[in-house]
Order: sequence, then C-alpha cells, then structure tokens
Amino acid sequence: MTNNLSLICQTNSFNFVSLNSSILKKRFQNYLDLIVHNIDFEESLNISSSRKFFIKEFCVDSWYFPSHDLSYEELIYVAFIIIQKSCNDVKTEYNSNSCSNLSSNSLNDLVPSNNKIICFLLAVKNSYHAGNKFHNFRHAIDVLQATYFFLIKLNLLSTDSLIYAKSQSQNRIIKNKKLNILNSLKSKSITQIVNEEVQNTLDKSVMKPIEVLGLLLAALGHDTGHPGLTNLFLCKHESPLSTIFNETSVLENYHYIMFEKLITNFWTEKHFIDLPKTVSCCISLKNLITESILATDMAKHSEYITKIKHFKELANEYNNNANKNDINKDEIKNKIKNQIKEKLTSKLLCSLIIKCADISNVTRPLRVSTQWGIALGKEFGEIATLESLLTINKRLLDLTLRLVSCLKNNPELYKGQIFFINTFALELFKSILEIFPNLRFAVGIIEKNVAFWEKIKYDIEINDGKELNGLDEILPLEAIY
Ligand SMILES: [Zn+2]
Repeated sequence: MTNNLSLICQTNSFNFVSLNSSILKKRFQNYLDLIVHNIDFEESLNISSSRKFFIKEFCVDSWYFPSHDLSYEELIYVAFIIIQKSCNDVKTEYNSNSCSNLSSNSLNDLVPSNNKIICFLLAVKNSYHAGNKFHNFRHAIDVLQATYFFLIKLNLLSTDSLIYAKSQSQNRIIKNKKLNILNSLKSKSITQIVNEEVQNTLDKSVMKPIEVLGLLLAALGHDTGHPGLTNLFLCKHESPLSTIFNETSVLENYHYIMFEKLITNFWTEKHFIDLPKTVSCCISLKNLITESILATDMAKHSEYITKIKHFKELANEYNNNANKNDINKDEIKNKIKNQIKEKLTSKLLCSLIIKCADISNVTRPLRVSTQWGIALGKEFGEIATLESLLTINKRLLDLTLRLVSCLKNNPELYKGQIFFINTFALELFKSILEIFPNLRFAVGIIEKNVAFWEKIKYDIEINDGKELNGLDEILPLEAIY
C-alpha cells in the first residue's frame, strides 16, 4: 500500500497533467477513480491513533499550531480534518436549504469523498517544493490552519473546541465559544453593524459555507509551485514568468494557474460551478480562489490597509450618529449600513482573511513564530546568495570589460584562445580558402588575434605582466597589437 502511494506521489504527471483533450481528461478521471477506489489513503498516511488523537485534540484548533513538529503526513492529516469539516458544513447547509430536488447521490457528487480529498492533498503536497526553506507545503498548511482558526474566531465556522495555548502546559479549552464579548462595547465594529439584525455577531450569512470552503482551498494552494524567490527578484532578472505576467503579481498569478490545473482534476465542474449555483452563491469557487490567491501579493498590502481604514471611518460615522438625538439618525445609520454591506463583499472578506493568515507567523506564540522567522531568514539568505552569484556572472559576461580586469577575471583565457586557434581554427580557415576564398578576412583576424594572445602570454609568463599593468584599454573589436 505504501509503495503504491509513493509511486503515485512521485509521478509528477499525476500533479500537473495539462489535460486539454477531453479524451485524455476522461482517461485521467478513470485512472483517478480507480486508484481512489483501490487505495485507502488515510491508512497509507501511516499515522498512529495516538498521534491522530494528539493532532485532533491539541493541534488543529490551536493557535499554538506546531507546524515544525509535525511530519508531512501529519500535515496532510491536519488539512484533511479542516477540508472535510468544511465540506460537511457545505452538505449541512445544502440539506437544510430547499435544494431537495437533488438526490443524495447527486449531493455526494458535489463534494469529493474523504478518500479523494486525501488523494488531492497528496497531490497538493507534491506541488510545493520541499527544498524551499519557507515557502513549502508546511507553510501552505500553516496558512490553511491560520485561515481556519480565524474563521472559527469570526464565528464563520463552527467547532467543538478552541484551544488558546499560552504554553503547552497551559492549554485551556473553551467549548464552542460564541464571540459575543464585543457586544458589551458601546461602539459597534463593522461586522456588528452589518449583522445588527442577527444577534450582533458575525453570522454565517455573511459568508456561505461554500465560500468558506473556497477560502480554505485558496489558503491551501496559495503558494503552489513557489520557486523560493520573490517577485522583485523575478522581475529584476527578467525571468520568463515575469514577462508572461507583465511584471504584475507574477508569483500569485503563477500559483493560481498551477493550483487550478491541479484542483480541477479532483474538484470537477460540479464542485466549481454547479455547487455554488445550487446553494445560490453569487461567486463561483474558481473566482473566489483566484481573487483570494491574488490578494496575497504583498505589493497590494497598502491597498488593503486603505480599504480597512475606509471601513473604520464608516464605523465611526455610524457610531457617532447612533449617539445623536437627530430625528433622521436611523435613516443616516441605515444609509451607512447599506454602504458597508455593499462594499464588504465575501470576496473582500476572503481576501482580508487570507492576507492576515499568510503573514500570521509573527502573531503565533513566541516559540512557533521564532521557528518560522528562522525558516524565512534562511530562504531570504539563499536568495541573497543567488543574487550575488548572478551579479558576478553578469560582470564576467560584460563584453565592455577593460583588458586588465578581463584578464584578471579570466586568467586562463589566453591559453584557451591560443590552443583553440592553433589546434583547430587557423588550419580550418586557411584550408577552406580553397573553396571559399571570400573568407580570407577571417584568416586575417585569426592571425591578428593569436598574435595578440601570444603577446599577452609572453608578458604574463616571461615579463610578470609588467606591460599589462600599464594598460587600461577597453577591448576593441579586433586585437590591438
Ligand atoms: Zn504564502
């Protein structure tokens, strides 16, 4: 079983097959159905029941989430618990709505089976570069867990327990805590203003379960295929990727495209298009995932800060009006509330949540945040090393180098030139004159060049480079001697 699993996981084509032809797509689906039917992926993860208990009870719901203490298989299990839970919420909402015109079989079609979810997670794991010190699968799961935790804290996702870990020994469990504390405050927050009618909490109506699922999937795939480099680096060195995406959100566009290729093998049109429609969701999963992943571009950071500040201003305006004795105050309040509702779309909420989750390392308890800090520092260190290597190589390839530095950077150059000219080129070009007499000019230049390099050789080997020290010429188009 484990052999089968590693075989599947090592097959790159399993991850990123570009299935343009419908026949290939069909074949792949058959292949996928076959392996999902025959392999128990949860069992293949080979996690003991005590570790499963530890993960379920002390990791998934905890802000102390110890990413670096979990194996990759255990991280997959974490993701499975989260995605499975979200899928169940989607099913529950579907069942409680008036969508009973679909049979239970069709409902099962709309959400992948548990085994297929784990199979999908294995493919996601393979789409991240394990060699990256920071932007690897561990970071993906960390952002997924942070997103999940925020959703619970915002009351957008239910949970049986929440663990606030100040330290490992100080865990305390708060059962299904409703976050009504804010209600006691005089000034209302944006979310309270939006949801005044629904018990002053950020109610599930703000985001539908299908949107929550879309956000969790976006968190999981938000750095797919990350090369361990920055947008700045890719643009500065004119990488093909930066050209393709016109130097705009280069990595984020790339992550989405890679993730879309992967996810559509597991989450079919039924999940992407049919399901959101079935639960009257106005945004498709595809659109929501794209927008959420693009929101993680740090170049857009200040754009989001400005949006948040604007909401703060609206909330202040609302609260100020609430305290006035103006007869029109309710009308003004309703106007502001509608303005907020219009702007605070689920798309924006998702973007804000994933942004917070993506840079949440520094908000984790000290031990965890320090581990992440070290990992990020190492990745940045590697980028700096690569940058300096590329700078040196660029200088070596600079064709306008002065003669002295040219010889300093390429001390063996004269030997190679003399050897190649005398062994191959001069003889060939002299001989070929019998057939192509018009190439005589080349022979003339070869002879001048070899004479130049012989002179350099003499000066370096016999004269200790005395003549060269006085030269500061830029190499001309032909030999100067
Ligand atoms: Zn990230």
